[in-house]
Amino acid sequence: MNLSNQYYALGKNFYQETLPTAVAEPVLLLWNDPLADSLGISLSAEADNELLAQYFSGNQLIEGSKPIAQAYSGHQFGHFNPQLGDGRAHLLGDLTDEYGSTWDIQLKGSGTSFFSRSGDGRCALGPALREFIMSEAMHALGVPTTRCLAVVATGQAVYRERALPGAIVTRIASSHIRVGTFQFFAARQDFQSLKKLTRFAIERHFPEIKLVKVENSKLDEPLLSSENILDFFTAVLNKQVTLVVSWLRVGFLHGVMNTDNTAISGETIDYGPCAMMNNYHSGTVFSSIDRNGRYAFGNQSKIIQWNMARLADCLLPLVNEDEDIALAKITPLLQQFANDLQYRYFEMMVNKLGIAELAEGDIELVNDLLRLMQDEQLDYTLHFNHLAENLTQTAVDDFLNDIEKMETQAQDQWQLWLARWYRRISDDVAATKRLMERNNPLVIPRNHHVEAVLESAQESGDLSALHEFLTVLQQPYSHIASTEKYQDVPCGGDENYHTFCGT
Ligand code: AMP
Ligand code: MG
Repeated sequence: MNLSNQYYALGKNFYQETLPTAVAEPVLLLWNDPLADSLGISLSAEADNELLAQYFSGNQLIEGSKPIAQAYSGHQFGHFNPQLGDGRAHLLGDLTDEYGSTWDIQLKGSGTSFFSRSGDGRCALGPALREFIMSEAMHALGVPTTRCLAVVATGQAVYRERALPGAIVTRIASSHIRVGTFQFFAARQDFQSLKKLTRFAIERHFPEIKLVKVENSKLDEPLLSSENILDFFTAVLNKQVTLVVSWLRVGFLHGVMNTDNTAISGETIDYGPCAMMNNYHSGTVFSSIDRNGRYAFGNQSKIIQWNMARLADCLLPLVNEDEDIALAKITPLLQQFANDLQYRYFEMMVNKLGIAELAEGDIELVNDLLRLMQDEQLDYTLHFNHLAENLTQTAVDDFLNDIEKMETQAQDQWQLWLARWYRRISDDVAATKRLMERNNPLVIPRNHHVEAVLESAQESGDLSALHEFLTVLQQPYSHIASTEKYQDVPCGGDENYHTFCGT
């Protein structure tokens, strides 16, 4: 295993060069074999247990690694903080897989840095395991996400409200560049670094953007045209559409969509206070610090637009020196983003109803269904499963025959809605059902099950319940032996469930 250090090459104002702090007794708890394979890492938990514990605790440096803590800023709940950065994470370096894609290898919980402020640089075992479970579940659900390669117990306590066992989680991401990374340089009016960052991000994430040579540019200045910047911004926006629409499809609440937690790659990052929705309600919030519901389930589309507007603020000076000209070029992209989000959201929702393409009347069909579900407090996942379950051509034809004979006054809201949906899909019910099965998971990482396996792992050190849960989560669209065990809705619908930032 040999790491490169692409981000390191950007220069010292992008990070602090700093080593992980050694831990007392590293023990490898989780190792993600399929992910290791896909990265071309040939070490295994069986054969190389000790070495993996040393590497992924930060006690021993992987060959080639030059650990850094990355600098970034961020809007936290709408308030700008110019100085955040990796306060408890170390980017060890990167690996390029057999397809030529490059992946950051980052330790989280690996000690303090220049950016730690009053934090201890550490992570408790619960949040580390939680990030592993949630990100694996999201990956299997088909949601773009950072992933976890390893969780290593440190053998040291971390002190939160009480003493907790400590752990280090290894995060794999296509990069750790955030909206906040752009904000860091924009806030300092360091346009040279801003250009370097943009160029790096284009080369890493969007190599299809052809970098144009700018006339009269100085030799040491990154070469970027105004068109490059606009293409870059458009590419970032497109990634965010897919990301947020995927979240809304599976009922995921990120919980803390600050600009420092928004990766420009469009991967889900920072699993701190995330949760899954049970009953459909657009105002669902679980995060204990989100008192105004800024990051509520149904606000996520709006917030990603806000975050992208903050990225636009950073890019404006690179588009044109004249702010009015720059604004005139970037504003239509944000408008298009809003339209795309809305279109792709409804397209995704009709896919959940087994309809391949949006047609007239479909938006009302979706909105009416969601209104009914919200009024009757129906579970988001189970209800779509339920709609798909008994879907046969005969059932649909019989229902439509029966309802035509009924007096309209005698039909309830559900019958009226079902009749509209059934009429829409009656041409090919089998194809409808197949599309529904691809778009509606049978199982999601429900909060009460996540908490239960974390508790058993923390109390007894026994990870068997966690492994059983992971096996089911890794096949969310298939019925396997223990699927049913994890489909149930919690008593009281998680009414008193609260998530925390995991610090
Ligand atoms: P987060 O809420 O996880 O997005 O973190 C926000 C900021 O706080 C980032 O700059 C983190 O690196 C920093 N941070 C979070 N937890 C800790 C900790 N235990 N020690 C030091 N810094 C932390
Ligand atoms: Mg964060």
